[in-house]
This record gives sequence, C-alpha cells and structure tokens, in this order.
Amino acid sequence: MSAVAVTETVAPTTTPVVEVRGATKSFGANRVLDGVDLDVEAGKVTVVLGPSGSGKSTLLRSINHLEKLDAGFVSVDGEPVGVKVVRGRLHELSERAILRQRARIGFVFQSFNLFPHLTVLENLVEAPVAALRRDRAEVRAEARTLLERVGLADKVDAYPRQLSGGQQQRVAIARALALRPRLVLFDEPTSALDPELVGEVLAVIKDLAAAGTTMIIVTHEIAFAREVADTVVFLDAGRVLEQGPPEQVLNRPRHPRTAAFLSRVG
Ligand code: ADP
Ligand code: MG
Repeated sequence: MSAVAVTETVAPTTTPVVEVRGATKSFGANRVLDGVDLDVEAGKVTVVLGPSGSGKSTLLRSINHLEKLDAGFVSVDGEPVGVKVVRGRLHELSERAILRQRARIGFVFQSFNLFPHLTVLENLVEAPVAALRRDRAEVRAEARTLLERVGLADKVDAYPRQLSGGQQQRVAIARALALRPRLVLFDEPTSALDPELVGEVLAVIKDLAAAGTTMIIVTHEIAFAREVADTVVFLDAGRVLEQGPPEQVLNRPRHPRTAAFLSRVG
C-alpha cells in the first residue's frame, strides 16, 4: 500500500466585514484610541461597552472615516477606509471616494439627526439617490417597505417634529438601512430617549440582529447586550480591556475595571 499523503486542512478564509488594526488617535495630548484591534464577521453583532470618554464614539467614527486615525487602519470588506495604497505608499482618498465608502456603512446617532424639512419617506430616499445614484422610484418603494419593517408605515408623510423620539429613532434606523449597508453602526441609540420609548427602538435592533445584519452597537443597555451580542468589547481609556461572548464578559469579567463598570451601569 502506498503511503497516504498528509494534507493540511485549510480553514475557509472569510474576510471579516470590519477589521480594525492598531487604531490610534489623539486629540492634542489626549490619546483617545490606543492601539485598538477589532474584527466583526458578517452577520454578527458586536456591542461596545465602556465608561464615558473611553473612545467609543471615536472608534465608531473612525470606522466610517468621520475621524482620521493617526496610526493603524480600518478596512471594510477588505478595502481600507479613507486611504489607498499606490505603489507602496498610502494616500488619502478623494472626498468623493470617501463618501462612496461611507454610503456602505449605516450610522445611527444618539440624536437621530433627521432632516427636519423632509418627510419621513424623503429622509430615507435622499442618500441612496444622491450618494448611490439609485433610481428614485425604486428607492421610494424600498423605503416604504423599510418603514413598515420598523412599524411606521402610517408615518410616511409625517415630518420628524410630529414624531416621538422613539419614532424618530426608528426612522433613523430605517434611513440607515435604505443605503443597503454592509454594516450598521449605532452610537448610544437609546440614550436620548425617555425610558418608556427605549424598548421599541431596542426591539427594532433585535429584529435586525435576528435577520443577520452586521452591526456594531455602543450602548449602556446591559440586558440588551446580553441578548443580541455575539461579542462584547469593553473599552477603557482607548484600549480593549477584554472581549468575548456576552456570558463571559458580562457574567465573568476578567478585568476588575470591567466588573466595576458593570456594577455601575447594570
Ligand atoms: P465616548 O464615546 O466613549 O464617551 P469619545 O470617543 O466621545 O468617548 O471621546 C473620547 C475622548 O476624546 C474624550 O475625552 C473626548 O473629550 C475627546 N474628544 C472626542 N472628540 C474630540 C474632538 N473632536 N476634539 C477634542 N477632543 C475630542
Ligand atoms: Mg460617545
């Protein structure tokens, strides 16, 4: 009998949707991100926790190049964000190219940021038409479906000021989805809401998680994190102190600072 050839089993290589490597950013002498590494796989939900000022917003903002890193890089779908490499040298992308990249990433802010002079429907239609040059009629039809999905089919023609905070935030989520993003970033999406309106927004985000939307969510809602997160990341002073599945980071934190934070917010 001939010898059996030893073959290596090669794991399938899936590029994460988001790769953050050595992300470093200072404002003056204040080092806000200090070598952050983060991977987010397709269809997974990452929840970022951390004290106020730990760099959570700056991290999200650097993922869609609203902040420019001093060192390190971010890539989305394997493509560096905000920069390109030409003949071995790093160049900043043009404003136009950056806008095109940003259009693949949904961003939901604490403060909704809807266009006050546009109806709910037009809030959703604006960016896909302007940034992606998509057909207006097609985008409008898709926008109606998205508004149904977030429970606002009856508010299509309303203006933002006529809606509650929870409804406005659901519009903002639908607007982010209207870009057919590869990834949606949420920066404390319920922090500005009255307590009785938090649940309706979290319910929409849970639906997105169940549907396999790739998301990074900054929140202080620990029970929600436990429910939706595949990975919980604890950021402290611009560093990832620990990360892992929610049952590990939230129930058996390894780092005393994580435990102290959880006892404050939980
Ligand atoms: P978090 O979202 O975790 O509360 P941020 O990322 O907003 O933290 O901010 C981290 C630190 O960076 C804070 O000390 C904040 O004051 C500072 N910072 C954020 N943005 C700027 C800016 N544009 N200019 C100067 N300092 C900033
Ligand atoms: Mg913040």
